[in-house]
Amino acid sequence: MRSQGRTAGCVPTMGALHAGHGAPIARARGECGAVVMTIFVNPTQFDRREDYERYAKNLDADLEFCSARNVDAVFAPEADEMYPKPGAAFVEAPELARYLCGVFGPGHFRGVAAVVAKPFNILQPGAAYFGEKDAQQLAIIEQMVGDLNFPVRIVPVPTVREHDGLALSSRNRRLTPEERRAASGERSPEKGKRAALDVLETGPAVRVEYVEVISPRMRPVDRIEGPVRLAAAVWPGSTRRIDNVLCGPGQS
Ligand code: AMP
Repeated sequence: MRSQGRTAGCVPTMGALHAGHGAPIARARGECGAVVMTIFVNPTQFDRREDYERYAKNLDADLEFCSARNVDAVFAPEADEMYPKPGAAFVEAPELARYLCGVFGPGHFRGVAAVVAKPFNILQPGAAYFGEKDAQQLAIIEQMVGDLNFPVRIVPVPTVREHDGLALSSRNRRLTPEERRAASGERSPEKGKRAALDVLETGPAVRVEYVEVISPRMRPVDRIEGPVRLAAAVWPGSTRRIDNVLCGPGQS
């Protein structure tokens, strides 16, 4: 493909593909002469063996998903092809990896950096596409590529969400309906308002005139189903200030 002057856009994944993966593919399709997917459940980024073994795998369905989206090539190695011997060289971004997901799985980002660096060298894509859902992963890969001069452009892709705001993931299907509701955030405008008031009322000498959760076009809402506007008027002392922010499902 390179000899034909086509720049490859690479979309690294762990398979079990869904519409969330469709976004980076579509973006790569629009920007690159060729789209190359990697499908590989990477053992070195799982701190717990049972999580690795439990990860959903369905290569046949994934290949159909790719061909329906005009993916040009799929790189789907076996674990013993990728790691014929235990890895002894790694890339680390310790400053970015030491908090959030890095705390709960200390080896995770070391594994991620290695498994992204390898196809960058094997496939040599001109660009690679990563979801903003995995924001820490994206930041670490940007750091690796920048600091170590990998000749690949990193492109962030906005998160694709379910109608209730939950980010699409192959793990969503493991949630019970109740867990699902809990995962997709607060739906009651009253509770959202209460949470905002709890913060404002802890500040010294701030008088709250109003806090409201309303639609983006300033109408009342009974339930938070999509983006909403949190609007407030407060008096920090003798001066009245108003402000509002868009928030809720689909707003990050
Ligand atoms: P994964 O297969 O979960 O490792 O994801 C592969 C790539 O697709 C990563 O760059 C993810 O950030 C991205 N991705 C996964 N789910 C979504 C989503 N719901 N929206 C956008 N990108 C996603």
